[in-house]
Amino acid sequence: MTIDNFNFNGKKAIVRVDFNVPLDENGHITDDTRIRGALPTLKKILADGGALIIMSHMGKPKGKVNPKMSLSQIKEAVADALGAPVEFAPDCAKAAEMAAALKPGQVLLLENLRFYPEEEGKPVGIDKEDPAYDAAKKEMKERQKEFAKTLASYADVYVNDAFGTAHRRHASTAVIADYFDADHKMLGYLMEKEVKAVDNILKDIKRPFTAIMGGSKVSTKIGIIENLMDKVDNLILCGGMTYTFAKAMGGNVGLSICEADKLDLALDIMKKAKEKGVNLVLGTDCVAADAFSNDANTKVCSVMDIPADMEGLDAGPLTRKLFTDAIDGSKTILWNGPAGVFEFDNFTAGSRAIADAIVKATEEGAFSLVGGGDSVACVNKFGLADKVSYVSTGGGALLEAIEGKVLPGVAAVQG
Ligand code: AMP
Repeated sequence: MTIDNFNFNGKKAIVRVDFNVPLDENGHITDDTRIRGALPTLKKILADGGALIIMSHMGKPKGKVNPKMSLSQIKEAVADALGAPVEFAPDCAKAAEMAAALKPGQVLLLENLRFYPEEEGKPVGIDKEDPAYDAAKKEMKERQKEFAKTLASYADVYVNDAFGTAHRRHASTAVIADYFDADHKMLGYLMEKEVKAVDNILKDIKRPFTAIMGGSKVSTKIGIIENLMDKVDNLILCGGMTYTFAKAMGGNVGLSICEADKLDLALDIMKKAKEKGVNLVLGTDCVAADAFSNDANTKVCSVMDIPADMEGLDAGPLTRKLFTDAIDGSKTILWNGPAGVFEFDNFTAGSRAIADAIVKATEEGAFSLVGGGDSVACVNKFGLADKVSYVSTGGGALLEAIEGKVLPGVAAVQG
């Protein structure tokens, strides 16, 4: 079923959203992007004449009640965003009566799902090495089913709009879907958009396809690099990874971030790119600094010859040109991970050059997807988020999807 094809009139819908919003020390929301992201789905259900049961996690309470992570803190913000009053159920597993009393157009927000260990389905207080762990895990999986069944019993239809947790097989993100038939479970609008964006870069690819992978380490990106190697025309590897490659090629990288145990892996990536005809673009020069600080003294030098007391913190001018040349004319673009320590204003040039080139290619008709944590912060910092085709809201989920993994939250609904 799709959300557009379902009429919620007279129905109760339980919707899994990602309202894991950042709060300040007084419990005030500092960024409401995630609440705004779910509004199209929530408003469609209310506009149809349905009743809403909203559920989410917040933070990592590890299966215990923790008032600092109570969703009661965001009740008013949700009401304001929806333009409708919101009731609050202080125990998500004991909300049957409140759910039953809901009338069309009414909204019930459940307390943090992760106050129950059943939500994540991981046994608590027992070490993985413990001989009793397997039995405890099995027991918890049974409890997880019961918990999911309870949540399911509140509603006629289940909607998953929490892309941020789609890579987890939790009670509310996947297990609950077993208690609804195919006509009564669906993805929300945000999930649909995310899944479509991933399809654009993994399935419906328009060429040339350029992927830009940055960030700090090769080790955390290797799964994605390997999956993309079969798909891309240009693969730009930048950021801290640059120095592992430079070292692997015999360079002196000074104090730059470098994974000494990943040198063979770097050489292997280079070999594979050659075999597969992928244009691998690596930095040739960098902006080296004498301290990990915005005010450090800097010097532009070859990545192969960085002074022993300096570290590369950004891409140099020649490298920036190489990157923009590769991005120019691309028709599909994926960007994950900055090209330098963009948090320091003096080391944003590499990331800025990439962002500008992506914006230009997008204006010329490319589909551009930016996602996975820091690159989103980066385009936001440059004020360019609305000039790329899609900025993903789901860090870990997006990365797993790009690695080619099936997301349990999507599979549970789509079968
Ligand atoms: P990741 O979470 O792996 O995507 O890494 C993002 C982080 O990588 C950001 O906080 C950047 O500051 C950092 N980063 C990018 N380039 C470098 C570099 N040359 N040296 C150290 N850190 C870097």
